Amino acid sequence: MMKILVINTGSSSIKFALFQMPNGHELVSGLVEQIGEGIGAISLEINGEKHSEKLEIPNHQRGLTLVGTWLMNPKYHLISSPDEVHAIGHRVVHGGESFQETTVINSEVKEKIKELFGLAPLHNPPNYEGIEVAEKVFAKATQVAVFDTAFHQSLPPKAFHYALPKYLYADYGVRVYGFHGTSHRYVARVSAQYLGIEPQKANLITIHLGNGASMAAVKNGKSIDTSLGMTPLSGLVMGTRVGDVDPGVIFYLEEERGYSIQKVKNMLNRESGMKGLAGDNDLRAITERVANKEEEAQLALDIYCYRIKKYIGAYIAAIGPIHAIVFTAGVGENSAIVRQMVCEEMTHLGIELDQTKNTIRLDEIREVNVADSRVKILVTPTNEELEIANQTYQLLK
Ligand code: AMP
Repeated sequence: MMKILVINTGSSSIKFALFQMPNGHELVSGLVEQIGEGIGAISLEINGEKHSEKLEIPNHQRGLTLVGTWLMNPKYHLISSPDEVHAIGHRVVHGGESFQETTVINSEVKEKIKELFGLAPLHNPPNYEGIEVAEKVFAKATQVAVFDTAFHQSLPPKAFHYALPKYLYADYGVRVYGFHGTSHRYVARVSAQYLGIEPQKANLITIHLGNGASMAAVKNGKSIDTSLGMTPLSGLVMGTRVGDVDPGVIFYLEEERGYSIQKVKNMLNRESGMKGLAGDNDLRAITERVANKEEEAQLALDIYCYRIKKYIGAYIAAIGPIHAIVFTAGVGENSAIVRQMVCEEMTHLGIELDQTKNTIRLDEIREVNVADSRVKILVTPTNEELEIANQTYQLLK
């Protein structure tokens, strides 16, 4: 038995979960938030019970020390010393082309993660900070990096290149990297197992619809195309991010309408997507408004689902015959109406939804297609933390 702590460090937060391996049992999960913002908070959930406290958390070092102290609280029976944590699996957003796989962290790996700051300026610096701090607080644990981009490193050149001047790739690394790789990898494997197919033989389209959203074309278990690109801005319509848009819009706004590049950047990242279309980035609110026959919300949902549908068509063309399409993450797992609208009039592609099965709510993997649908339609709950723990465990074993 081995205890593995998974941490996902953001600029002002640390999400954490402690797993017992190899059985993958989650012992506890929690969150440290508002780090460096005056009064912060730590909360955790254990056996369905929630505990939290508000206190000053000036920096990540204090935040992670606090996680250690809470895990050692005798009333939780988790660990009695930081040394009982065998390994820490760190979520690292950008691995560039340097990391195709989960990697044990050493000084060279840290240097490389640092070199990638420019490609993920919002994410890699706090991820790096999380590693530095964990090395001090859990000094005996093996530190492991699990990259969000790694699963998509199997993209062939024809899929990962942009049609830009060649030197931009050669000199600056401008190319498609893709994100949400840990989630796509996890749901692809679990879905293949559910279907009774060897994971390395599965042909799937995985559709991760959360606050951010992306799709992956998975052929023989490997990602061969994906909708997010060099940055998490392309592809599907997201909560606040634009997804695919003609880059000419940016020049029009700058040259003809006097927008600064900063303003356009903020707009494409934070004021577009569902928020831009209908004023709400939460799909639950949009769905309620659709039920109340609000046209603006209906159009936004139409655009959201139509984009997914187009990508399904594109990915079937890229993969060839597929075993299943897989819905996952907050929206994919919970929104029956999104799944229904995406799968409408797809019978000619072998995709046929069962309306009744689609509306049944369950927390586990399930099939929502009619019995004779050539392509299965799965709802597969994602679990990025468990996948990070699995990857970390496999590496140590
Ligand atoms: P995630 O990033 O995977 O945590 O997903 C967050 C998103 O899931 C939010 O935009 C929520 O609106 C969405 N979500 C959660 N439950 C539902 C639901 N029942 N219907 C529609 N969207 C949902």
